[in-house]
Amino acid sequence: MSKSKMEIGARLLGWYDRCRRDLPWRARPGEKPDVYAVWLSEIMLQQTTVAAVGAYFDKFIKLWPRVQDLAEAPVEAVMQAWAGLGYYSRARNLHACARKVAAEYEGIFPSDEAELRRLPGVGPYTAAAIAAIAFDRPAIVVDGNVERVMARLRALETPFPAAKKAVPRLVAEIASRKRPGDFAQAMMDLGATVCTPRRPACALCPLSGDCAARRRGEAEEFPRRAAKKPRPLRRGAVFYLRRADGAVLTRTRPPRGLLGGMEEFFGTDWGEGLAEAHSAPIAGVDLAFAGEIDHVFTHFALKLAAFVGEAPRGAEAPPGGRWRGPEEMAAAALPSVMRKAEARAKKFLGPAVLPDARIGP
Ligand code: SF4
Repeated sequence: MSKSKMEIGARLLGWYDRCRRDLPWRARPGEKPDVYAVWLSEIMLQQTTVAAVGAYFDKFIKLWPRVQDLAEAPVEAVMQAWAGLGYYSRARNLHACARKVAAEYEGIFPSDEAELRRLPGVGPYTAAAIAAIAFDRPAIVVDGNVERVMARLRALETPFPAAKKAVPRLVAEIASRKRPGDFAQAMMDLGATVCTPRRPACALCPLSGDCAARRRGEAEEFPRRAAKKPRPLRRGAVFYLRRADGAVLTRTRPPRGLLGGMEEFFGTDWGEGLAEAHSAPIAGVDLAFAGEIDHVFTHFALKLAAFVGEAPRGAEAPPGGRWRGPEEMAAAALPSVMRKAEARAKKFLGPAVLPDARIGP
């Protein structure tokens, strides 16, 4: 390793010794890490913030101070203690992992990264974090914080996610061989407290003299991100038909697929081309154009032409349809795109004139 690269690692560790975060699962300087606490915290921190994990970590440590205690607990009690932390498969895996460590490893976690990866719920990132933090093994730990720090430090022009595969090598270039556990935690702390996604505190950063993005005055411009592909646009038409008694015509979508089993107004298919000319689902009902509705789904944007029509009292619903009274409509399982159509149609048509609301003779 070149001298300047070694110096980056040393500067970071010097900062860590002064500014490290005091976390309940973290060993204090000079203390030996508690492997159980490191593992428990790393599982809880997957997709969850440090602030959210704190109280849960304390609760688990009080209820089950050792991995053997957790292994012996009923899975229902573990799930109950986890309630509110989300991603519940983690709790199931946590319990399965505790049982495996208790049964197959005599309650002692393995220190080897590959062996750790064989435990339930322990993926490559978590295995590296446990190996480094709990056992001071020279594992390269890369989370989102570390990716951001490295992208800025080296002003990586390759956009993420494509740049991900370059990051472990760049981290390895500056990693401390003497204190790999502290180095891993220092990188995480730097990303979490100084090199933050927005407004990084470069003036307080121990690596400001080494940082290429900072030199260019473009810290916040990194990491580069691949431009998102624009969503394709689909078009269609929707028909809001109201009968003279105030009932509205709806149908149920097929059980599978987009908005499966939900209720909707009649309409055309949603396609890539322009909506075809339309005819009302009930013969003889004139349609009026009430405007367009825009809605965005995960994989496409939708532009719906909304048409409204007034059907005579006693008009029968076409096959697959039903008339819904105003109270039923309020409670119907209508997706938000259909609620938008309903709002547009009501605005266009005005309130229904019900027989008992008529004024005069
Ligand atoms: Fe991040 Fe700024 Fe430090 Fe560079 S100088 S690593 S951008 S905090």
